[in-house]
Amino acid sequence: MTRLVMKFGGTSMGDLDRIRRTARIVAAEARAGHSIAVVVSAMAGKTNELVAWTDGAGRAAAGMAMTDDEYDVVLASGEQVTAGLLALTLRNLGLDARSWMGWQVPIITDDVHGRARIDEVPGDVLGAAIDAGQIAIVPGFQGVSRAGRITTLGRGGSDTSAVAVAAALGCACDIYTDVDGVYTTDPRIESRARRLERVSYEEMLEMASLGAKVLQTRSVELAMARRVPVRVLSSFIEPDAAGVLPEKSGTLICDEEEIVEKRIVSGVTMSRDEARISLLGLPDSVDRPAEVFTRLAEANVNVDMIVQSPSRTEGTVNLTFTTGRRDALRAAELMREGQSDIGFQDIRVDEDVAKVSVIGVGMRSHAGVAQTMFRALADKGIKFQAISTSEIKISVLIDAAYAELAVRALHSAYELEAV
Ligand code: ADP
Ligand code: ASP
Ligand code: MG
Repeated sequence: MTRLVMKFGGTSMGDLDRIRRTARIVAAEARAGHSIAVVVSAMAGKTNELVAWTDGAGRAAAGMAMTDDEYDVVLASGEQVTAGLLALTLRNLGLDARSWMGWQVPIITDDVHGRARIDEVPGDVLGAAIDAGQIAIVPGFQGVSRAGRITTLGRGGSDTSAVAVAAALGCACDIYTDVDGVYTTDPRIESRARRLERVSYEEMLEMASLGAKVLQTRSVELAMARRVPVRVLSSFIEPDAAGVLPEKSGTLICDEEEIVEKRIVSGVTMSRDEARISLLGLPDSVDRPAEVFTRLAEANVNVDMIVQSPSRTEGTVNLTFTTGRRDALRAAELMREGQSDIGFQDIRVDEDVAKVSVIGVGMRSHAGVAQTMFRALADKGIKFQAISTSEIKISVLIDAAYAELAVRALHSAYELEAV
């Protein structure tokens, strides 16, 4: 029997009817001869409600931010409910199923509450259970620290739970969601986006980290490191009268060598989780930027884009950098604390910015990708404030108001539309 991990997101677990459909899909795979572990998300909207409750109970007021271990106790409950409900529903279909909480598997994580990283998932007990014919239902998003406390893996973390369980069981991972695969861009922004049959781990990693929320970034990192074949599929399917599922299409995330279709650009993404901080009137000496970035690094603030430009005052420059929104306040605070040492005259923080990126492994060997990007933005009159590049992506920071327009313009400039 081949082992298989199936993951169902919040929409697929959204109510009892949807859980019944999910159970029929799982039952079909079980009857087709797979040993199955299912990883589930909380019902759509549930985690947001739980976050609001923890805020209401005083998490923010107590100043504990993401370090609160009780925040995780509350948040992990959403997945506990759906895991139990799916196990019950499967039993009603005559199948042997049971839930396995994060601490029972166990999914061992570090103790960074709110965004813990998985350290270890022993696969032997779970593997033996599923090989003996039981369907194991594992709540996504949750783990247990070595100190025995419940942890959560950061928003969207059920994808990472699923890939970690698949890596532990040495099998493939099917991610069922509300789209039928990974598209050239978010189909909610561009209805002409095209489904990719295959996408490389590297491209998917960039796409996820640059805003394509279809998979959590860490899940792709883990899949790439452990070589887990991941397929993204629609959960809006039904087995036929004989209980057989339609043939799987979706998107396979795999090694670059396994992709026959050669394209220069595979996707366009957008992220609003950006903030721009500008230090104005910084003395133009070589050691000032080092001073700025050392302070940020020591406080664990990740900086993404950096631009230095001349300022109007002789002998000074303006230094602009971006961080994730969550870090922006902290970064600005650090700068203000160090103002007299760093020596800048003024500071500006702007959260009305978005990062739009084009991604593709073909960029390594093709010229002209940047030129197409800047031409397309210029044609729409969209100014960019900062740029960053890697071997396989170009990102620009723009005014948030133009983010969706920019995504559509780039999607069409690289001819990514469905034909
Ligand atoms: P789930 O609850 O199943 O984890 P998510 O809401 O986290 O689902 O992720 C699926 C959503 O990701 C889709 O509804 C889609 O709007 C969004 N998305 C963003 N970028 C892409 C992309 N490039 N391809 C497919 N979906 C994308
Ligand atoms: N329920 C969690 C969230 O909404 C985890 C997940 O669904 O992946 O972030
Ligand atoms: Mg998700």
